[in-house]
Amino acid sequence: MAKVGFIGLGIMGAPMAGHLRAGGHELYVYDLNPIPKDLLEKGAVACASGKQVTEQAEIIVTMVPDTPHVEAALFGKGGVAEGLKPGKIVVDMSSISPIETKKFAERIGQLGCQYLDAPVSGGEVGAKAASLTIMVGGPEEAFARVKPLFDLMGKNITLVGGNGDGQTCKVANQIIVALTIEAVGEALLFASKAGADPGKVRQALMGGFAASRILEVHGDRMVKRTFEPGFRIELHQKDLNLALQGAKALGVSLPNTATCQELFNSCAAHGGSKWDHSGMVRALEMMANHEIGSKKG
Ligand code: NAD
Repeated sequence: MAKVGFIGLGIMGAPMAGHLRAGGHELYVYDLNPIPKDLLEKGAVACASGKQVTEQAEIIVTMVPDTPHVEAALFGKGGVAEGLKPGKIVVDMSSISPIETKKFAERIGQLGCQYLDAPVSGGEVGAKAASLTIMVGGPEEAFARVKPLFDLMGKNITLVGGNGDGQTCKVANQIIVALTIEAVGEALLFASKAGADPGKVRQALMGGFAASRILEVHGDRMVKRTFEPGFRIELHQKDLNLALQGAKALGVSLPNTATCQELFNSCAAHGGSKWDHSGMVRALEMMANHEIGSKKG
C-alpha cells in the first residue's frame, strides 16, 4: 500500500481521494476549504499545508481548478515543493495549461522528483463511479508506479506521451465536446423551428450515424430544458481559452473553437457562467429568436 497525498478535495477531488482510501492506501489531504467529513471518517489524515502532505506521502496528487491554483499548490509558500525529497512523484490531475505544465514538470524534476500530468474526463458522475478517462503525460517509470492508483479512479487510462501531452489531450477532448454541443444545438434548433418534435428527432438520430454521447446526454438536457451543472460553462471557457491560446502560440487556426467560445461568452453575458455547458444552445436560440420545443417564433 502506498502513502498518498491529495490536494484539492472539491467536486472531483473528494470522490477520487475516497476511492484511493477505499483501496487501502494511507491518505494525507489538504484543501483551502474544510476537508469533507466523510473522508476524515474513512481515515484520511488532514494536514495543515501541501508541504505537510508531501512530507508524509510518496505520491502527491493535485486536483484544483486552474493553472494559477496548481502553481500556488506546488510552488507557493507551504506548498508541495517545500516538502519534496528525491524519488517522490507529483501527479497533477487538474485541467490546466499544457505549456505551463512542461515548466512545472521541469521544476519538479530539478528537485529529483518525477511529474505526471493526468487530467480526466467523465465529470462528477465518472469521479463518483471511478470510471474516469485519464490522459497521462510523463515518464513511463512514474506512470507504472502510479497506475494502480489510476486504476482505482478510472477505467480508460492512457499514457499519451511526455509531460504536457496529457493536458494537450484534455484540451483536444474539450474542443470535440464544445463543437459537438454546438452541432447538436444547431440541429435540434433547426428541427424545432421547422415544427418537428425535438425529442423525437433526438430519439431518431440516436440510431444513426449522428449518434453520440453528447446527442444522448446534452441533447436530452436541451430538449428537457435542464441546465443545472454538470459541467459549468465557466470551466469550459477556461479550457477553450487554453485551446485558443495554444493555437495562437502554435500558429494553428481553430475557427469553430473560437465560435464556440463566443457562444459561451454570450451565455455568460446573459448570466449563464454557471449553467451546464449544454446551455450553449441558449446563445443559438437568442440568435434564432426561437426556443427548442416552443411553438412560437
Ligand atoms: P472545485 O472548485 O469543486 O474544487 C477545487 C478544490 O481545490 C476546492 O476545494 C478548492 O478549495 C481547492 N483549492 C484551490 N486552490 C488550492 C490550493 N492552492 N491549495 C489547496 N486547495 C486548493 O473544482 P472541480 O470541479 O473539482 O475541478 C477540479 C479540476 O478538475 C478542474 O481543473 C476542472 O476543470 C477539472 N474537471 C472538472 C470536471 C467537473 O465535471 N467538475 C470534469 C473534468 C475535469
